Amino acid sequence: MPEFDPHNTNEGKDKDLEGIIRPQELGDFTGQSEIVSNLRVYIKAAKLRGEALDHTLFHGPPGLGKTTLAHIIANEMGVNMKITSGPVLDKPGDLAGLLTSLEEGDVLFIDEIHRLSPEVEEYLYSAMEDYVIDIMIDKGPGARSVRINLNPFTLVGATTRAGLLTAPLRERFSINCGLEYYDKEDLKKIVKRSSSIMNVGIDEEAASEIALRSRGTPRIANALLKRVRDFAQVVGNGDIDLSIARYALDKLKIDKRGLDSIDNKILKTIINNFKGGPVGANTISTAIGEDQGTFEEVYEPFLIKEGFIARTQRGRIATELSYKHLGLDGYKGDLNTLF
Ligand code: ADP
Repeated sequence: MPEFDPHNTNEGKDKDLEGIIRPQELGDFTGQSEIVSNLRVYIKAAKLRGEALDHTLFHGPPGLGKTTLAHIIANEMGVNMKITSGPVLDKPGDLAGLLTSLEEGDVLFIDEIHRLSPEVEEYLYSAMEDYVIDIMIDKGPGARSVRINLNPFTLVGATTRAGLLTAPLRERFSINCGLEYYDKEDLKKIVKRSSSIMNVGIDEEAASEIALRSRGTPRIANALLKRVRDFAQVVGNGDIDLSIARYALDKLKIDKRGLDSIDNKILKTIINNFKGGPVGANTISTAIGEDQGTFEEVYEPFLIKEGFIARTQRGRIATELSYKHLGLDGYKGDLNTLF
């Protein structure tokens, strides 16, 4: 049986369900209360003035709702949204094509915006600032630049690595929102909302259990809910109660702290192969056979937030909590001595 990967939930039929579960309005969006209340003000003000919303950047770990908020902005502003991503937009011509197709007030959503090529990024500056782009026509001696005026638009950028954004690009976003991991109560609300959309019964305790094991991430909460629903239908009577939720989550190898098999592999690797650290991200990623970017963007932030690993100047170390979690002895002692 292939291992359950809660970070990869975009396959086939699940994708249709994604579209239905995804909140469409700010009122449906649970958590991130400060961001939501600020956006409410910015959107209302822009609408009152009859202007495009200012360019907006969302940053934070995957699955926390950046794309969802971009959809919501377009929806609440009553405009269309074009979607692309940093790695896809590799030629300035592609960007020019997209920008010139935008109607007044439309949203252009660029996911993974930290991965734009410098050349494309350069074009974006004048587009964002003055709603113009200068396109080069012809090559060689006959080459000349033609200025094209664009309709006022809103660029919504999303990134898991805000630190990799260049300063000129970052400065051009006047709305900048950092999304945080969700707390258990908010995730529970999301699980209950999704299960009612999916038409599956779930009791309070089961919703709490799924919330607790979702790594603070709505995308994972929804992915777990879908898989638990499968177990409820096949092994149980279709409804989700605590025992079926626990049974399914154990089968999916999601442990009581919400760590999956890769999280646990990371902790075991630091402790068993590198004596608890310090060890570099690059070495850990190679040892577990994962890409370093994935380790740093997906796994590490949650493990740090929950206190399983800590970052020191010389690398990552496993904390006492990790040893306890894995039932291992050998913790080297006070963290402070290592700094
Ligand atoms: P990101 O772009 O940050 O990777 P998404 O916006 O694609 O994350 O969110 C992943 C999924 O999680 C979405 O399909 C959506 O259904 C769900 N989701 C995200 N944030 C929320 C939220 N605050 N409330 C309810 N569902 C959410």
